[in-house]
Amino acid sequence: MTDVAVVGGGLAGLVAARRLAEAGARVELFERREAFGGRVRSTHDGRYTFDRGFQVLFTGYPAAQRELELDRLDLREFPPGAIICRPGHRSTLSDPLRDLSALVPTLLNRDVRTADKLRLFRLQRELTGKSEREVFAGEDQSIRSFLADYGFSTALVEQFAEPFYGGITLDRSLESSAAVFQYTFRCLSEGAIAVPAAGMGAIPEQLASRAERADATLHAMETVTAVEPDGEDPRTDGVALTLDGVTGTRRFDACVVATNPKTASDLTGVATPEEARGCTTGYYSLPAHKDLRTGGRILLNAADDRPNEVAPLSEVAPEYAPDDRQLLSATWLGVSDADDATLTEEVREALADWYPEHRFDDLEHEHTDRVAFAQFAQPPGFRDDLPGVREPAGPVYLAGDYTSWSSIHAALDSGGRAAQAVLDEQGV
Ligand SMILES: Cc1cc2nc3c(=O)[nH]c(=O)nc-3n(C[C@H](O)[C@H](O)[C@H](O)COP(=O)(O)OP(=O)(O)OC[C@H]3O[C@@H](n4cnc5c(N)ncnc54)[C@H](O)[C@@H]3O)c2cc1C
Repeated sequence: MTDVAVVGGGLAGLVAARRLAEAGARVELFERREAFGGRVRSTHDGRYTFDRGFQVLFTGYPAAQRELELDRLDLREFPPGAIICRPGHRSTLSDPLRDLSALVPTLLNRDVRTADKLRLFRLQRELTGKSEREVFAGEDQSIRSFLADYGFSTALVEQFAEPFYGGITLDRSLESSAAVFQYTFRCLSEGAIAVPAAGMGAIPEQLASRAERADATLHAMETVTAVEPDGEDPRTDGVALTLDGVTGTRRFDACVVATNPKTASDLTGVATPEEARGCTTGYYSLPAHKDLRTGGRILLNAADDRPNEVAPLSEVAPEYAPDDRQLLSATWLGVSDADDATLTEEVREALADWYPEHRFDDLEHEHTDRVAFAQFAQPPGFRDDLPGVREPAGPVYLAGDYTSWSSIHAALDSGGRAAQAVLDEQGV
């Protein structure tokens, strides 16, 4: 039987562990934290659920459909589209083909010109059904120049694309890769964005329990400090793993390194992306009866980025808040050094601008996450420099979003690809 170590218990590592164990390998996964999930985690304080930053699952991600039991996640879906907000003004932009209730407000939306709405539908049709390979093939450019070349107006770019895709890529300048824009746009058109009723942490929980059911052994609080050849001939001698605080090494036939990119580079010597994109997400509560009339749609800040967007979490997933309160999240791009009170005041001011009919003295701060590394930077052409799962020499393999692009889809997919490479080369 082949012994395989998986280093890192994020989405990529958990998928790799399950796939390998299901194929008959003897698998041990080592995760340095107390909980599995890596960048996808949730905490519960007895009243509220806080995901680690505002994150959502795109049900249109092919790897989500393949690797997750979506029907067992109790997904709560955001309706398509968003609400564009400026001082004294809110307007709904949706996809009337998927959400009939938004047909009239979308057609009447004067923030977005009819020609832009038609371009959005055309782009949607063009991208539907395209594979990841097709979307990422060929010359890349920035999102901003792609939208301009496609004919979208400056108004559409500033009012919708900047806050919406700024939120997705954590880069409101729209200088990120147009291929990432196109692939996420395609997935958004073919599915919903959703959160599990129990929080995003339910995703790694499901993956971990499926890996354990397949007989993988998952160790938490175990940090791997070195992954080295265990002899002269790496093809036959295998890999020696050093664990923090443990004397000696553990031998495995193969090892999948599924950590964050920086640690993967330290452990394997392979170059990985260095520039990080971070964000700050604050969680705020309001009395449940205060009706913000979002219909569950995300509020986009078309005027500035303080904050970039506000998500009506408990309107979409009532389980996120107790019955008498509603939970909102507000996200700033980058790690803010402002204190919680200052950020809370910014959210109050933004909401008061967008809802002149309401007062927000009753908005209460519940929690803040400052996430230094959420995604790696993805400028146009970034994929040319990424390592493949088979990049390290010998029986060491890579898994993680940084082998493809920064997303839940890519992390899940990379776990499957790394497991397949191990099985093809090492057998079981
Ligand atoms: C705030 C935020 C918002 C996001 N929003 C979205 C979104 O809406 N949609 C989307 O698709 N994607 C989103 N992403 C990106 C997505 O979450 C990541 O791309 C994905 O989770 C990466 O998974 P991974 O398994 O590749 O890496 P990671 O999640 O980084 O997992 C690596 C794991 O390795 C462990 N590890 C590191 N070093 C060691 C060591 N030496 N020994 C043992 N273990 C180690 C870490 O603790 C971690 O658990 C978001 C991310 C964040 C943080």
